[in-house]
Amino acid sequence: MSDQERAAKRAQWEEINRAKAAAKQKEQGTPDSAEPRAGLTQKQFQAIRGTRDLLPPDTALWNHVEQTAHEVFGTFGFGEIRTPIIESTELFARSIGGETDVVSKEMYSFPEELDFFRQNLGTISEAMQNEGRLNRYLNLVVVFSERLKDELNANRLPQTPTNLGAFQQLADLSSEALGRWNSGKTKPDPEWEELLGRAETMVRDFDLEDKESLRPEGTAGTCRAYIEHHMQQLPQPVKLYYMGPMFRRERPQKGRYRQFYQIGAEILGGADAPAIDAELIEMLMTFFDKCGLQGTELSINSIGHSADNCRRGYSALLRSELEKVKDKLGADSQRRIETNPLRVLDSKLEHEQPIIEKLPRIADHLCDDCKTHYAVVKHELELRGVIYRENWRLVRGLDYYMRTTFEITAPGLGSQNAVCGGGRYDGLVELLGGPPTKGIGFAIGEDRLILSLEESGKGAGRQGRDVYIAWMGERAYATAIRAAKDLRNAGCSVELPPTELKFGKALERASKLGSRFALILGDSEVADGQWTLKTLADGSQQKLSEAALLEYLRNQKAGL
Ligand code: ATP
Ligand code: MG
Repeated sequence: MSDQERAAKRAQWEEINRAKAAAKQKEQGTPDSAEPRAGLTQKQFQAIRGTRDLLPPDTALWNHVEQTAHEVFGTFGFGEIRTPIIESTELFARSIGGETDVVSKEMYSFPEELDFFRQNLGTISEAMQNEGRLNRYLNLVVVFSERLKDELNANRLPQTPTNLGAFQQLADLSSEALGRWNSGKTKPDPEWEELLGRAETMVRDFDLEDKESLRPEGTAGTCRAYIEHHMQQLPQPVKLYYMGPMFRRERPQKGRYRQFYQIGAEILGGADAPAIDAELIEMLMTFFDKCGLQGTELSINSIGHSADNCRRGYSALLRSELEKVKDKLGADSQRRIETNPLRVLDSKLEHEQPIIEKLPRIADHLCDDCKTHYAVVKHELELRGVIYRENWRLVRGLDYYMRTTFEITAPGLGSQNAVCGGGRYDGLVELLGGPPTKGIGFAIGEDRLILSLEESGKGAGRQGRDVYIAWMGERAYATAIRAAKDLRNAGCSVELPPTELKFGKALERASKLGSRFALILGDSEVADGQWTLKTLADGSQQKLSEAALLEYLRNQKAGL
C-alpha cells in the first residue's frame, strides 16, 4: 500500500469517527458550539499527571540546594557528570533488574505507541463488547501499522523477517477491516473476533527489542559512561555526581511524582575499603546539614554478597521460613517468596509486621568477609561522628546492591519520608560489560528534600528586588539606565520600569515587588546630582550623590 493510500485510509477512518461522534452528540442534545472545531478550540493545557512546574520564588530554594551539592561534593573531590535522559531499555533491565517494579511497570519506554498497543491487546474481549469499542480498537490497528512503518523505516525496530512479515500482515489486516466496516458490518461478531485474533498474534510476535527509555535513576547511565569512556584508565576511584530529572510511572501523591529530581553520587573503581562507604555517607550527611535539613535519620545495613555462604544461603533460608507462614502473608509478599524473598522484609503491611519480626536476620548469616566489612564501616562512621541506626530489614529495591545499604529519612513527608537511598554495587560495571569494578553510590530525592525544608520553614529567602528605579523625564531615563547598569554590576537586583510612571504609581509597584529600596530619579535630581534613596520598610529617605549612593548600596548588599 502506498503512502497516499494509507493516508486516504486513515482520513476515511477519521471521517467515520467524526460522523459518529456528531451523531451521538445530536442524540444527546449537545449544542453545536460545544463541538471542537479545528483552529477555534479553546483548550486549556495542563502539566501532565505526575509532572509539575517549579516556579519562582520556589526555584530559588532548588538552586540553593543544587549549589550546596556542587560545593560540598566538590570539597570531597567529586566531579559532575551529565548523562542523557534517554538510554537503551536494556541498560536498565540489566542493571536494575527486569523483575523490579521500576523496570517491569514504571518505565517510560519508546516507541510509546507500540507499548500502548501491546497493553491494549488485552482489550480484544473488550473490543468485542460493542460497536464503539470495536471502532476504537480498529482505529488503533490503523495508527499502529503506520507507526510500525515509520519505526521500521527509521531502523528503530529490528528489521527481522518476523517483523517485516508481521508488518505486512497488519497492513493487509487493516485494509480488510476497513472493507468490512464500510460494508456496514460494524457490530462485533465471530468474524471480527477472528480478525482481531490475527492482529493479536501479529503484535505478540513483533520484536520490540532495542527500545529506549527515559531514565528512572542515574546509576546505570553513570556506569555505562564509565565503561564507554574507559574511565578505569583514570586514577581510581573515579568520584562522580549528577543531578537532574528521573522518570517513573508511579501513582502520583505527595513526595511521589512521575518526573522527579535526584542528586546522586557514585564512587567507581579502586578498593572497596569500608572507609569509602563511610566517607560517602559522611559527605551525604554534611550536605544535608549544609542545606539546613534537620531531623534526618540514617539507617544502615549490610546485605552481604551473592554467595551460598552469604546472601544466597540466607535467601534460601528466608524462603523456606516464609513458605511456612505463606498463608498469613499478602499477595505481594507471597509472590516475592519465589522472586525475591528479601523484598518481603520491605513490606509495610500492618498484619505482616509481627510475622516478619520473627524471621531470621541477615546479620547472623553473613560470610566472614562481609561481616568484617560491615563492622569496619560502622567503626569508620563513628570515627567521623556520623550517627546511624541499624535496620536489618533495609534491603533496597534494586537488584544491584550488595554489602552496605543505607537510607535517610527526613521529617514532614508523611509516608514518602525517604530522602535518600544508596548502597554498594561491586558487580554492576562488570554486569554491564565493563571490567570488574567496585562501586558505591546514593541518590537523593530532591523533591522530597525541598518539601522537607519547606515544611520546616526553611523555604526560599527574600525574593524581592534590591532596588526599584522610579524615574520620570527623558534626562532622568538616560541616567536611570546607567544607574541600573552600575548597580547590577555591583550585584544588586534592579527593576527598571520600561515606561515612565508617576512617582506614586512607581513606588506602589516597587513595594508590590518586595523591593528594599526605591531610587527616585527626576530631572531635578539629575540636574543637581543628588539622588533620593527611599527605604521602603520604614519610608525614610536620604539624598546622596551618585558615588555615595553606589557605595551605600554596595555596603548594604555585603551586609545582607
Ligand atoms: P521509595 O521507597 O520512596 O519508592 P525508592 O526506593 O523507589 O523510594 P530510589 O530508587 O532509591 O527510591 O531513589 C532514591 C530516592 O529518590 C528516594 O529515596 C526518594 O527520595 C526519591 N524518589 C524515588 N522515587 C520518587 C518519586 N516517584 N518521586 C519523588 N522522589 C522519588
Ligand atoms: Mg519506589
